[in-house]
Amino acid sequence: MSMEAAPRARESGLGKRSKEPGGGLRAVPRVGRAECCVVGGGPAGVVLGLLLAREGVRVTVLEAQASFERQFRGNTLNPSVLEIMEDLGLIGGLLKLRHAEVRTFVVQTEGTRETFADFGRLRVPYPYVLMLPQARFLEFVSREALRHPNFELVMGAKVHELIEESGVVRGVRYRGPDGPGEVRADLTVGTDGRFSKIRRLSGLPARAGRSPMDVLWFNLPREEGDPEGAGAIFRCGPGSLLVLMDHFDYWQVGFIVEKGSYRRVKEAGLPALQRSVAALAPEFAGRVGLLPGWGEVSLLTVESDMLRRWSRPGLLLLGDAAHVVSPVGGVGINLAIQDAVAAANTLAGPLKAGKLKGRHLRAVQRRREWPVRVVQAAQDFAQRGVVSGILSADGPYELPLAVRLGLKTPLLRDVPTRLIALGARRVRPKTR
Ligand SMILES: Cc1cc2nc3c(=O)[nH]c(=O)nc-3n(C[C@H](O)[C@H](O)[C@H](O)COP(=O)(O)OP(=O)(O)OC[C@H]3O[C@@H](n4cnc5c(N)ncnc54)[C@H](O)[C@@H]3O)c2cc1C
Repeated sequence: MSMEAAPRARESGLGKRSKEPGGGLRAVPRVGRAECCVVGGGPAGVVLGLLLAREGVRVTVLEAQASFERQFRGNTLNPSVLEIMEDLGLIGGLLKLRHAEVRTFVVQTEGTRETFADFGRLRVPYPYVLMLPQARFLEFVSREALRHPNFELVMGAKVHELIEESGVVRGVRYRGPDGPGEVRADLTVGTDGRFSKIRRLSGLPARAGRSPMDVLWFNLPREEGDPEGAGAIFRCGPGSLLVLMDHFDYWQVGFIVEKGSYRRVKEAGLPALQRSVAALAPEFAGRVGLLPGWGEVSLLTVESDMLRRWSRPGLLLLGDAAHVVSPVGGVGINLAIQDAVAAANTLAGPLKAGKLKGRHLRAVQRRREWPVRVVQAAQDFAQRGVVSGILSADGPYELPLAVRLGLKTPLLRDVPTRLIALGARRVRPKTR
């Protein structure tokens, strides 16, 4: 986190020390009290924290990491998130942060070029995907939330236990920078991402999907002469697929490999990976050698799943913790933030009135489950219909005829664009 940009978390409180009967010192957990305790300060968690705080709910967000800085996380904010930011009066400040705007997603095969998403064709106020380092977005939102005295953010607080009484979740225990702590709350929300501890502790079962691919992510520098505002480019070659994302001062590169083949790719050696990248992106041939080693290559094991039930008494899961989605289309952040908005719309009133019931938590799942399922189904279609074909091709790859026709048919061509931009159901904050 850049120091000048870092929001200062409200005083997290020191775990006090007390005398043990034998004269030794033991840490006394810091005990906090909130109406809502949010576990995980990713996009879902900080946006939920902000929205509840605006409504006067006492909310504590616990984030395991000491800063928001992350390597290779989504850096995309889609038009629906920008609309939500506008509703909250935050769009001006957000757009002042250094960013790039991606207006099209283009697929290039040997000799062909198809635009599969053109945000300019949608009637939305911000017809582009905003490329902004996720850490800057999280700092921005949490700084805004910290203006509310009823909002608390504890950084470096790793939750390891649910506090349960007669089957009802009453809060969590964590290990913080200053010792152990606990937060007791009417509602605990798990927004702790794809490896969610809260999901594991809750015992809520999930249904898993299948994916044919994994992704190796790394960065390459921009050079003079690179196109400005290039957006997101997908290059298909025999048995390989490359994603190039223009981040204004560097390129984020995704090399898609067959599921489970990472070890084989690694054994083949870094020069082989560099040659494969250069074969798909000849303009990068002179700089792939700047990739120093495997330490700079991050493996994303692509998964897709969904909890059967998103809640238990006193507990709700949202974002990746409730449903991991494939990176196809780059919509994970969008879905996580839409979950947060839907949850705040439904829960702020009952939380403030002290009248939260299980039916309110189930209503959040009812609102959000099917839009996420629609996106997962579309991703599955793209993975089976296109990505699998590319990865198994041993010659030049052509997009299937049905896909090429679909992208030229007025009623169909904007379906991928709409799903990426807005999801299957638009969500707006209730109080704007
Ligand atoms: C390599 C990669 C690239 C991606 N690219 C894109 C993209 O381009 N566009 C896109 O939309 N999506 C992308 N995604 C997906 C996107 O990052 C997620 O879908 C999105 O961040 C989910 O938000 P979330 O708030 O649910 O969870 P997360 O963003 O995962 O946030 C969870 C937070 O919980 C914290 N946490 C975890 N455990 C604990 C604990 N025990 N106690 C307290 N805190 C805890 C974590 O530190 C983290 O800050 C990408 C993901 C990966 C891994």
